[in-house]
Amino acid sequence: MTFGSAQVRCVEEVRIANHIESFTSNRDLLEANRYWLYPHFLDDHGGFDLVFQSWIVEIGGRVILIDPCNGNDRPHSVPYFNMLDVPYIERMQASGYLPQDIDYVICTHLHHDHCGWNTRLRDGKWVPTFPNARYIVRRLEYDNFLAADAGLPADDLNKGVFARSVEPVMAAGLMDLVSADHALFSGVTIEGAPGHTFGHQMVHFHSAGQHAYFTGDCFHHPIQLADPTVLFAGADDTAALIATRRRLVELSCEQDAYLIAAHVPAPYAVRASLAGEIVHFTAGAQTL
Ligand SMILES: [Zn+2]
Repeated sequence: MTFGSAQVRCVEEVRIANHIESFTSNRDLLEANRYWLYPHFLDDHGGFDLVFQSWIVEIGGRVILIDPCNGNDRPHSVPYFNMLDVPYIERMQASGYLPQDIDYVICTHLHHDHCGWNTRLRDGKWVPTFPNARYIVRRLEYDNFLAADAGLPADDLNKGVFARSVEPVMAAGLMDLVSADHALFSGVTIEGAPGHTFGHQMVHFHSAGQHAYFTGDCFHHPIQLADPTVLFAGADDTAALIATRRRLVELSCEQDAYLIAAHVPAPYAVRASLAGEIVHFTAGAQTL
């Protein structure tokens, strides 16, 4: 995808077949939104893929990696994620980027599927995968996960994530803890987007008059923009999550902005616009 002068590439790790019934069984809602959900976000049988993918955004001569997925070699209580052996780095190279090319790694939050490739296993030790990058994590998110880490039960989805994927980066001096409104450089801002986790952040790009928001897990399926009350994965703060989704739709309408979520399949981007009082959605962005 492109927006403004930015080029965006997707690096996919794994995908899991899902069904819209796991989000909502509201037929009227689905029919009313079929015009933009079908066929990419909803097939003939109500199916779609939940994709675990990262974004590489090249803008202003810098390369930013957003949400580096689960990572290889990690034990996990969910079989889909257990001891992955995925050629993620090779796929990144096929897109034209080596690990040392990455200038910034931004984790929207610290769940297992958003910070895994922060590190990789080398000679029995977890070491940073991107040696030349600054890793950008929100301070509130870091503090919350640090405090919760020791008390996580063995089957928690994020058990061991802090020790494997966060601490080694901090120990190597590569991590910057930032506030909710943090200007990374001209045209790139980290903004708070609370709800899925308390410290969840999103990345706002503004280039040549176009806006794009990389929204992490603010929504897992685009139907959650049409009806922000549709829930899926657990949320730290449901009311805040719903408010964040409403704000995303407003931002998209006001700025004609793309909304690009972590787990939404191609064509990835969604835009909202106002037709009178009615919000109208479109899928897809300009392609490279
Ligand atoms: Zn996620």
